[in-house]
Amino acid sequence: MSDCIFCKIAAGDVPSKKIYEDDDVFAFHDIRPIAPVHFMIIPKRHVASLAECGPEHQDVLGRIMLLVPRLAAEHGLEQGFKVGVNTGPAGGQEVFHLHVHVFGHPARA
Ligand code: AMP
Ligand code: ZN
Repeated sequence: MSDCIFCKIAAGDVPSKKIYEDDDVFAFHDIRPIAPVHFMIIPKRHVASLAECGPEHQDVLGRIMLLVPRLAAEHGLEQGFKVGVNTGPAGGQEVFHLHVHVFGHPARA
């Protein structure tokens, strides 16, 4: 999707604060964090939302979900975190490239 901001971020064409990347998945800090730690995990291949996913997305969705606790722990959220997937206009979705929000407060050292 040539006009999709998250496709451009995943391709490295728009700068982001990247925290993880592999062949199929990209993760970066949210530009307007709602918690001290707030990042998003996205599939590199464009899909507009969770509601647009089909069986062909099962693998990447599973890998994104397994990345959630790993990246959360790497950012100090080993005591817990929240996960959100805003879906559709009535779900508060603003960017129509599927993204999984992960946010929380790091445990005190
Ligand atoms: P939503 O679609 O409601 O889940 O929200 C989209 C999220 O993407 C918001 O939390 C924005 O702060 C975030 N966002 C939008 N543009 C960028 C960007 N260029 N870099 C990082 N985060 C972004
Ligand atoms: Zn996209």
